[in-house]
Amino acid sequence: MATLVLKPGMDRRARAGHPWIYRGEIADLRGQWSAGEPVAVLDAGGRFLGRGFYNPRPTLCCRLLTRRDEPVGPEFFLRRLGAALDWRRSAGLLGDAYRLCWSEADGLPGLVVDRYGPVSVVQCLTLGMAHAEPWVLAALAGLFPGDHVLRLDEETAARIEGFTAERGWRGEPGPDELVIAEGECRQLVVLGGGQKTGLYLDQRENRARLAEHARGRRVLDAFAYAGAFACHALRAGASSALLVESSPDALALARRNLVLNRVAERAELRPANAFDVLRELGAAGERFGLVVLDPPPFTRRKDALEAAARGYKEINLRALRLLEPGGVLATFSCSHHVTPALFEDICRAAAGDAGIPVRVLATLGPSRDHPVLLTVPESRYLTGLLLEAVPA
Ligand code: SAH
Repeated sequence: MATLVLKPGMDRRARAGHPWIYRGEIADLRGQWSAGEPVAVLDAGGRFLGRGFYNPRPTLCCRLLTRRDEPVGPEFFLRRLGAALDWRRSAGLLGDAYRLCWSEADGLPGLVVDRYGPVSVVQCLTLGMAHAEPWVLAALAGLFPGDHVLRLDEETAARIEGFTAERGWRGEPGPDELVIAEGECRQLVVLGGGQKTGLYLDQRENRARLAEHARGRRVLDAFAYAGAFACHALRAGASSALLVESSPDALALARRNLVLNRVAERAELRPANAFDVLRELGAAGERFGLVVLDPPPFTRRKDALEAAARGYKEINLRALRLLEPGGVLATFSCSHHVTPALFEDICRAAAGDAGIPVRVLATLGPSRDHPVLLTVPESRYLTGLLLEAVPA
């Protein structure tokens, strides 16, 4: 096996529990190597640090899979995925739909596996993981005999890593669509057809939480996707909901979900830019008892953070102004570079400008099946706040 030797001092991150190695940190690559295959990683003094897949193409060229001197192969993958399943089972997180494997946080950097009923959706985010597909499939066959597997890669990651994004069934094709239960609600999953792997599973617990504030209230679900937040709120007794979403495909899904949950008559779908709608509703003097802001990431780059922060501030300011006294705002950011502290600063500035005293009911994060590793801040991308406009 090939060996990657780091420059002096460049082992600090690895020793602090972070698995990423950048190209500029490498002093030497010895032996026969091939892109996407495992290498042993040593510090400048020749001490073993771990093993990971190496790919010379991206600047983030190696992510450690293990810190033990062990083979990275089928047994390793079965052990890691088995541990991911056991952990979720004992934490009570198994259900109709859940994330089985969350990349670094489950000791398998570059691999995401989501479960929808009898289907595993596999997303390979690195060349090494794409090469390791047979090991992943063997492990899944061991853990879920007879179930289906759909590979569903993301274009951006595949381009950075230099492989073709795969999208298709492995083995026996599964169903085109599934209906899964999420608490009181049912959600349609179009396998291979929706955003992400089908659902925004990371918001599962936040949807339940929000529903607690829905009874009797008028709801605005901005950036609604398939309407999951709105369905939960309406099932929990919201008087009406306005869903704002710019993607026609997402709106078509939302329409079906509202019918499926028998709440369509209390819902209105608006195909529009949420920035515009927030402004128009404000100008028209509309008020809501519950507002959800769950936008897509406003930046994926650190150098665009300021513009992203302005975007978050604008929508939060407008949303706060739409709240009736005592109304609740659930607001989120899924931009990697927006930390919980920064997001709180942004919302504080918005509340200041809105001139509304705002109570923090809860700080929100991803569902527990998307665990966060303390030493890998990148494993936490979703942050949020549940805010209440204090009645005057
Ligand atoms: N709350 C959803 C997930 C929302 S993801 C859930 O729990 O399932 C963000 C959504 O915002 C995507 O569906 C995307 O199509 C939509 N979107 C992106 N930009 C938008 C804009 N400017 N106005 C309205 N919707 C937008």
